[in-house]
Amino acid sequence: MTDSLDAIVVGSGPNGLAAAVTMARAGMRVRVYERAATVGGGTRTSELTLPGFHHDVCSAVHPMAFASPFFRAFGLAERVGFVIPEVSYAHPLADGTSGIAYRDLDRTVDALGVDGRAWRGLMEPLVRHAADIAGISAGHLLHIPTPLSAAVPLGLAVLEHGTPAWSARFRGRHAPAMIAGLAAHSIQPLPSLAAAATGIVIGAYAHAHGWPIPVGGSQAIADALAAELVRLGGEVVLEHPVSSLAELPPARAVLLDVSARTMLDLAGGAFPPRYERAVRAFRYGPGVAKVDFALSGPVPWTDQELAKAATVHLGGTQAEVQAAERAVARGRHADAPFILASQPSTFDPSRAPDGAHTLWTYTHVPSGSDVDQRETITRAIERLAPGFRDLVVGCHSTTAVDAARYNPNYVGGDIYAGAPSIRQLLKRPVLSADPWRTPLRGVYLCSSSTPPGPGVHGLSGWNAARSALRHEFGVLDDPMGADDGDRTGGIAAG
Ligand SMILES: Cc1cc2nc3c(=O)[nH]c(=O)nc-3n(C[C@H](O)[C@H](O)[C@H](O)COP(=O)(O)OP(=O)(O)OC[C@H]3O[C@@H](n4cnc5c(N)ncnc54)[C@H](O)[C@@H]3O)c2cc1C
Repeated sequence: MTDSLDAIVVGSGPNGLAAAVTMARAGMRVRVYERAATVGGGTRTSELTLPGFHHDVCSAVHPMAFASPFFRAFGLAERVGFVIPEVSYAHPLADGTSGIAYRDLDRTVDALGVDGRAWRGLMEPLVRHAADIAGISAGHLLHIPTPLSAAVPLGLAVLEHGTPAWSARFRGRHAPAMIAGLAAHSIQPLPSLAAAATGIVIGAYAHAHGWPIPVGGSQAIADALAAELVRLGGEVVLEHPVSSLAELPPARAVLLDVSARTMLDLAGGAFPPRYERAVRAFRYGPGVAKVDFALSGPVPWTDQELAKAATVHLGGTQAEVQAAERAVARGRHADAPFILASQPSTFDPSRAPDGAHTLWTYTHVPSGSDVDQRETITRAIERLAPGFRDLVVGCHSTTAVDAARYNPNYVGGDIYAGAPSIRQLLKRPVLSADPWRTPLRGVYLCSSSTPPGPGVHGLSGWNAARSALRHEFGVLDDPMGADDGDRTGGIAAG
């Protein structure tokens, strides 16, 4: 390995790899250091339960796979096989009926009956402008969102669903529950503007291009990024935890795919006190507890439509989901928690032995919780799929404490590396038009602790790399050749 490096990336999550690929595409010599034995961060797939059962350790469903301007420029859809389930997400209620978000908007409208028209009124303008919405949500809230033809319907939808009037347009129970399930992905109190922003955007993608699932698991996304990096001459050094910036070999740019808090630890007091104080004020959100199941057969859902869904939201009515999320935001375990479930082997047989299946589930819990949610989640699924328990042949449970141990970016089990509240979408982790650039010469933060925040999209890494290329190397053109314009700004931080 040569020591004459242009850029070092610490961490090989989707943002770290996106940063590394962007730098390498600009002709830079890049090395990635990763503490774990495999690349991927939140996009790893592993035999967590039994041999032959391939479970996504973190992310499983990828609403942004086709929407992210970085992934579009990278050509992710051409490099990784994806299946797009005909149902993006489903939301069962206790009475055995379900709200179903088909990829096909017309079909969804028909199935929603009394609320079909209102659903179309909400979603149709957003679906029509999905590409522009992806561009708007790729950058920083401080930038003026354009074009207005997309920003206006998006803004209006977020305002409507981020306030107590969030179910005013609906008369039935399914559509409001579906909106609550989408918004709950943010792990923020409901209703709130931040939760609505997340929910509305992924809700629009559900009908625009579906919620894709990678063949072979999320690891395929990380492997495609790492393969491109290596093709461009970059290196990945595994099982190499970095504990201080001082231990790194010389390089003009260092991009950190670590949480904001870890960045301070790595700098060891080298940041100006004002910046350090601002980053210390950055808050982490509630945790998640995850349970992966190996099953001898498919989940026996009472409502057969649920078997077609990329993701099933379990949590009941809008009021019930709201109550569960409120409890977690107040630091309590919910009596009936909101649960996300995905059944990738239904669409991708490579995930499990013949006839067998994998089921991925997680729920929101207070920060730092060490409560095993295996029984709670099993009971919740059993109610909607009697006989489920008898199919379980293997189980792997991860508490919020385990999640933080697995990846230090998940402080207290916060899988988003910082709560995505409206305040923290603006100040992520500090208020700056270029929050990826730190006051330390050549040091950039590229994890989901920076805009646009959580999710597998590579955008934080891409934004950080473009800032580094501009400031450290004078490279102004985007080496990825993206067509969305430059959203990183260029105003110095600190
Ligand atoms: C249970 C769970 C479910 C999720 N579901 C989804 C989903 O379905 N869809 C979706 O889009 N998103 C999902 N997410 C969120 C998504 O995975 C993250 O937002 C995304 O992975 C963040 O990417 P990142 O590159 O910023 O950080 P990470 O993916 O966390 O990667 C950071 C990497 O840096 C390494 N690292 C950290 N510190 C050091 C150090 N000091 N030295 C060396 N290496 C270090 C870590 O080991 C890790 O590999 C989920 C996350 C979890 C945990």
